[in-house]
Parts: sequence; C-alpha cells; structure tokens
Amino acid sequence: MADQGIHIEGLSKLYGVGHNTIMALKDVNMHVAPGEVVGLIGPSGSGKSTLLKCLGAVIAPTAGRMSLGNKVIFDNGWKVRDLRALRRDKIGFVFQAPYLIPFLDVIDNVALLPMLAGVANSEARHRSLELLTALDVQHRATAMPSQLSGGEQQRVAIARGLVNHPPVILADEPTAPLDSVRAMAVIRILNDMAKRFETAIIVVTHDEKIIPTFKRIYHIRDGVTHEEQGEGRST
Ligand code: ADP
Ligand code: MG
Repeated sequence: MADQGIHIEGLSKLYGVGHNTIMALKDVNMHVAPGEVVGLIGPSGSGKSTLLKCLGAVIAPTAGRMSLGNKVIFDNGWKVRDLRALRRDKIGFVFQAPYLIPFLDVIDNVALLPMLAGVANSEARHRSLELLTALDVQHRATAMPSQLSGGEQQRVAIARGLVNHPPVILADEPTAPLDSVRAMAVIRILNDMAKRFETAIIVVTHDEKIIPTFKRIYHIRDGVTHEEQGEGRST
C-alpha cells in the first residue's frame, strides 16, 4: 500500500490527571492523500486544535498511530527523535493568529524559513515575493508587521506557512479575519500548492464561505470524527 500523505489511526488524547480529565480525541481515524485539501469542521471545544497540535508534534497523543509521508511519527509514543526538525522540515503551520516576528519586515518574515533551511538568500526572497504576490500583499513587502492590517498580517503568515513547500500543511481557521474575496484567494492558493507540491492539507474552519470548496470534510464532535463528501466546488 502506498502509505503517503497523512494517516491517523485510533488516535486518542486525554488531558489532565485523576478526576479532572477530558478525553479530547476518541479513536480518531483520518487519511489525507498527497495533493488533497480536506476540511475539519466542528463546534468550539470539539477537539480540532488538539488534533492539529498532535499532528504537528506540538503535544503528544495519549495513544494511537500517526504517519506523515511514508514515515510513522507516532505509535503509542514518538518515533522521531528530533521533533523540532520534524516540525521545521515537514509541516507548514498557519494559525488563527499570525505570530509574525515584529522586528523583521514582511519579506524577511517569510524568507527566514527557507534561509534557515539552507536556501540561498536571493532564491528565498524570490520565492517569498512570489507567494506574497499570489496573496496580494506584495506591496507591503518592506513594511513592518505592526504597520499591517489584521488581514494583511494573516496573508503574510499564510505565505510563511507555505514557503518551504512542506509535505503537510495544517491550517487552523486561516480565513477567519479575511473578507470573502481574500478567503477564496487563500483557498485557491492552498489548492494550487496541494497540486503543485503534492501537499496534504487540513483546514480547520467555521467559515461558511469556504466550506463548499472541500471535496471531503471530517466533522468532529466531542472528540469523535466522521467523514463526509463535501460539495467540492472548484475554486
Ligand atoms: P477546538 O479547537 O475544537 O475548539 P480544543 O481541541 O481546543 O477544541 O479542545 C478540546 C477539548 O479539550 C475541550 O474540552 C478543551 O477544554 C479541552 N482542552 C484543550 N486544551 C486543553 C489543555 N491544555 N488542558 C486541558 N484541557 C484542554
Ligand atoms: Mg481551536
């Protein structure tokens, strides 16, 4: 079996100890193929962020199995020694809040990651500017984060999440602060990236504007997921 993309099997996550525990994920199974963008939808407190944090190696699941690409990263315990390298090389994060580095200008915020990965300075900046252009924020390339609107900061953060072409992108409410034209542009870019670079992408969202774009959706409620066909309207 080609074991590519994201695989999750029997994943559970228990927070807390003693009487004060919450089972935030219960036997979650999920598969996202390379090149696929899936939606993850559920009410507040249902376990969406917990699932992304487990997949992103930010917190440890309690039990189960996860693989990224052809590599098992967790099997009732971490199977990767250097989680920081795993996060840096394999996973692009796009968070609800942009978390830009305040003392770097926009283009350096984006170009920093490829530069850390050893890409030449000029190529890193070229790639960054290309993404900033696709996200319609290239005119702010030399501005500082504090000079940008919330929506502009979010588009820069999205460029940063994509710039290293990671095999997996985890996006938590990426379009929340954006108007519908810009939200659809972000979805179009995520779909393009997925196809061009064989990226497996999970998008957590409540956003009614973008939900119809997914071909497959996982619904989550009280830590339990089920899969549904989406409308899959092409963008
Ligand atoms: P969502 O992102 O869908 O809103 P979360 O994954 O943040 O949901 O939370 C799922 C459940 O786990 C909620 O009941 C939440 O209160 C609980 N939870 C989240 N993080 C922690 C934590 N660090 N410690 C204890 N409980 C937590
Ligand atoms: Mg959340």
